[in-house]
This record gives sequence, structure tokens and C-alpha cells, in this order.
Amino acid sequence: MSNFSRREFIKLTGGATAAAATLGFSPFVMGAASKKVVVVGGGTGGATAAKYIRMMDPNIEVTLIEPNEIHHTCYMSNEVLSGERSIEQIQVSYDGLKKHGVKVVKAKASMIDAVKKQVVTDNGSFPFDRCVVSPGISLVYDAYEGYSKEVADGAIPHAWKAGPQTETLRKQLVDMKDGGVVVIVAPPNPFRCPPGPYERAAQMAHYLKNNKPKSKIIILDPKASFSKQGLFTSGWKKHYGDMIEWRGTPEGSDDNKVKSVDAATMTVATGFDEIKADVINLIPPQKAGKIALDSGLASDKGWCPVDHKTFESTLKPGVHVIGDASIAMPMPKSGYSANSQGKVCAAAVVALLNGQEAPDPAYVNTCYSILAPNDGISVAAVYRYVDGKIQDVKGAGGLTPGYDKTTDAMRAREVQYAYSWYKNIVHDSFG
Ligand SMILES: Cc1cc2nc3c(=O)[nH]c(=O)nc-3n(C[C@H](O)[C@H](O)[C@H](O)COP(=O)(O)OP(=O)(O)OC[C@H]3O[C@@H](n4cnc5c(N)ncnc54)[C@H](O)[C@@H]3O)c2cc1C
Repeated sequence: MSNFSRREFIKLTGGATAAAATLGFSPFVMGAASKKVVVVGGGTGGATAAKYIRMMDPNIEVTLIEPNEIHHTCYMSNEVLSGERSIEQIQVSYDGLKKHGVKVVKAKASMIDAVKKQVVTDNGSFPFDRCVVSPGISLVYDAYEGYSKEVADGAIPHAWKAGPQTETLRKQLVDMKDGGVVVIVAPPNPFRCPPGPYERAAQMAHYLKNNKPKSKIIILDPKASFSKQGLFTSGWKKHYGDMIEWRGTPEGSDDNKVKSVDAATMTVATGFDEIKADVINLIPPQKAGKIALDSGLASDKGWCPVDHKTFESTLKPGVHVIGDASIAMPMPKSGYSANSQGKVCAAAVVALLNGQEAPDPAYVNTCYSILAPNDGISVAAVYRYVDGKIQDVKGAGGLTPGYDKTTDAMRAREVQYAYSWYKNIVHDSFG
């Protein structure tokens, strides 16, 4: 249904293995190295890298440092807001990784020392030959007057790291009166999951349409445009009429840019006016996870520059950064990207620890968004390593066409693909 060519996809993603074989490097059988890898962060990127390093070379000792015993996937967390999914249905344990021989340590890293080659945590220090860091994002709390971590943990949740705040936001919607106003503040680029805020609006509207139909959702966006915009706006209209209003920011204007928030009066002030809301979901600007910032892995822009073939930091040799924290354009900051990068990084780490050259990688991403229970859309892309950079493979990706070129059955099938993708990515990363 999209321009996506399955044959092209298989040819290209198989390319990494083929290239590895050409280089005389077999990714799944390695010698008795007995080297140590420490992985910091057990989200999608870190879990995938830890698991695949163990699968590719069982002689490598892999320790995963993660403070939480249960991971909440952000993907599908918007469905928790609509009530289509429970919070338990986005929880994943680390038992699967343990079965692969990954040593999972409940700890928070405070420093990655690339010179001493050790990760310092609140539960001891861990030496490494190579370190893989996938700490996700940190939220810029001082971006708006009146906003802080305390406000986000209380009255104005961002819910951009799935977990307790997802539950708070869901409860706020359930408690809201019919005819209430929900304000979603979208973040500036670059940020985790480009279609996420707009899928969130659709999922909230799905709940409100069935339970509080007089309500309104206003999206205040500091950007002039957003991911899959035409598909989202036509989908919002079709399913929810005028319930969702997107207020973007053209070049040179600050009319819809948030200046301040007041949790006591539940108001949001922009360059143009002040909006009184019943529920505010402010998704602030983002940077790489704090541990990456504190360990000198990020540039002054707040994201981590890496070699695109190995994901080794260009600032701290021996330390690899993957997932949202890394600069991997044109790949978006998504779970599927983090998973794909986790495998590329694992193959590179295994090769380098065995005195081999890292294989030439291929990478893939698809982002599904669910507009309504039977209406899904997606954007897919395949990438190759060309001229030292990740580059889009022309014609190998695609976008769901508009309603004029799709049937209801095709759109409903995209939702089934999204659910199947969820099961697969969770199993591939954590299982
Ligand atoms: C609402 C929403 C919807 C989304 N939907 C999709 C989707 O449909 N498809 C998709 O592909 N992506 C989606 N995403 C994006 C996706 O969730 C992220 O891109 C992905 O989780 C990034 O993986 P990561 O490994 O970089 O970070 P994370 O998965 O966030 O993992 C980071 C981990 O590092 C740990 N950590 C942080 N600091 C430390 C420290 N100091 N010591 C030890 N551990 C630490 C954290 O506890 C966490 O477990 C969505 C995101 C949101 C918010």
C-alpha cells in the first residue's frame, strides 16, 4: 500500500550480514575473547545491543546497568491514554536478557570514564573493554517560566518517558469534565518520536469523543510543520471533527510558542495569548540522557556525535552511543531506530573486540501511528552507510497514502501491522 518494497528491504537489511561475511567476519561465531562490555541503559537500544552482543559472541561478558526492574515501552503508551491498553500491557521485564547470559545490575550510572574504562554507579564500579550507552533523553525543565521537574511530576505531566506520568495523564483525562480543554504543548526539533505528540492527540480524542464529546484539544506547536502532517490532519477531521485544533508557528512568529505555564491556575501563556486549560500535557525540549551529558559524550547542542559505522563516540573512544541520545540523522529518534542501531553497534563491538573491522551496516525504521481503532498510518525507511554517513535508500521507504488512495480495510490492516510490530520489537529487543 505504500511505496515500500519488501524485496528491496530484505536485500538491504540482509546487506549487513552479507558485508560482514565478505570481510571474513561471521557475526554469530567468534573466538574465546573473554572481554567485558558494559551497557548503560536498559531501554530499547541498550537491551538490543546487550542481547545481540551475547548472541553474536557468547564469550563476551555483558553487564547491563539499569535502575528500573521493569521497563515501560513508550511505544503504545499513547493507547494507555485512550484506555485501549492498560499500563501493564506496556511493561517488560529483563528476564529475557538474563536468559541470554546478560548480567543485569539494578543501578544508576553517575559517570562513564573513558580513560579508566569504567562505569561508576550507585551500586559499584564496572570495568569495560567497550561501553555501549543508550540513556534515552533528558527533559529541559528550565525552557519555560513556571515549569520544573516538580511541576512535571505533579499537575502538568509530560508523559514522554512512559510510566507513572502516563498513568497521571490518563487519570486527568478521566477526571476532566465534559467540555474541558486539553492543551498539548509539542516540543521543538529534534525530539523523541516525531509523530508521537500528534498520535497522542488522536488517542486522547478517541477517548474524549466517546466519553466527553464537548471537549477540545489544542496543540501549541513551536514548529511550522510536523511529521505525517497531511495524514494526521485529515485523520483528525474524519474521526473527531473539530475536536483537535493544531496551532503551529510560522517562521518569524511566536504566537503559538509557549512562554510560561502556571500550574496553580492551569494556564499556558504564549507570545499571543493566555489559554486556560483543564489538562496540560507539556512535552518540553529534549537533550541526550543526563549520564551522556555528564560524561562528556554530548556536543554543545546536547546530543552525542558518533561514527555512523560503529556508533563509537567521536568524543570518547571506546564508548558507543546509540538510540535517542545519538546524532544519527536522517534516522528519527524512534524505538525502531534504537533497535536497528543496537544491532549495528553490537556487530561493530563484537568485531572490534575480536580484532576485526566493523561490517558495513544497513539500518531500518518504521513508525506506526494509530489515529482510531481501525485507522493506522506509517512511515518507513531503509538506510545504508555511504561516504561515512547514514543515508536514505531512495525508493526503499514509503508513507501510507491519503484516504483518497486507501480503503478502510487497508487502514485497518495498518493497525494490525502496528500491533504485530509492537510484539516483534519487544521480543527482538528484550526477549
Ligand atoms: C508517546 C511516545 C510514543 C512513541 N511511539 C513510538 C513508536 O510507535 N515507534 C517507535 O519506534 N518509537 C516510538 N517512540 C520512541 C521510542 O520510545 C524511543 O525512541 C526509544 O525508547 C529510544 O530508545 P533508547 O534506548 O534511546 O531510550 P529508552 O528506551 O528511553 O531507554 C533509556 C534507558 O536508560 C536508562 N537510563 C537513563 N539514565 C541512566 C543511568 N544514569 N544509568 C543507568 N540507566 C539509565 C533508563 O532508565 C531507560 O531504561 C515513542 C515515544 C513516545 C514518548
